[in-house]
Amino acid sequence: VLVAGMLALKRFAEMRLRLERLVGERTEALQEKTLQLERLVAQDTLTGLYNRRHADEFLLREIARARHEGHAISVALADIDHFKRINDDHSHGIGDRVLERVARIFTGLVRGSDLVARYGGEEFLFCFIGAGEIEAVRICEKLRLAVEREDWSGLGPELRVTMSVGLAFCDTDAEASTLLAHADASLYQAKRLGRNRVVAGAVRRTASA
Ligand code: GH3
Ligand code: MG
Ligand code: MG
Repeated sequence: VLVAGMLALKRFAEMRLRLERLVGERTEALQEKTLQLERLVAQDTLTGLYNRRHADEFLLREIARARHEGHAISVALADIDHFKRINDDHSHGIGDRVLERVARIFTGLVRGSDLVARYGGEEFLFCFIGAGEIEAVRICEKLRLAVEREDWSGLGPELRVTMSVGLAFCDTDAEASTLLAHADASLYQAKRLGRNRVVAGAVRRTASA
């Protein structure tokens, strides 16, 4: 009886070990799947950039952090010029390739800790952390120039691509929505002034604040 009991105990211990290993493996696989899903939810399918959902979360989080830590933060909206014409003259498919290429140019030029996201159809959002006025303008000019100077001839013989940028820099305690509204107003100005340019504006503390 003793031997039988000990054998049963040993089998039981082995089973438990197998089960624990199995649970461990399944948990790891599940964690990996969750990570994959989180990445997918935050990603734009065409360009692989972050999407608007992620960008909005990023802005809220980083603006709160900038306020807390007292560093500057800048937000820029970039919009491809006359993109409808690119679609019409070269096809919607070529339009898509342009968006992919523009995204790659941006990723190559923006720091990993900053944000670049596809915010709408042909509109991109940037957030530069710790960047004050001069630095933010410099980065936006670099991005604008890189798009203008890219060799687009592989996608279409007469293809030209430019973009307009509206930049809002901020060293006060502005809300994300205020920064976005300022960036959007500056973008509108950039379009109105003839496109292919950066227009920047500061979000200033109001007298009552
Ligand atoms: P503006 O210089 O004033 O920005 O002119 P625009 O033609 O770029 O602006 P508009 O907003 O009139 O046109 C944007 C176009 O972008 C219209 C829409 O069909 C196109 N678009 C939006 N999303 C996509 C996309 O994913 N792929 C392609 N190929 N086109 C897109
Ligand atoms: Mg647009
Ligand atoms: Mg446009």
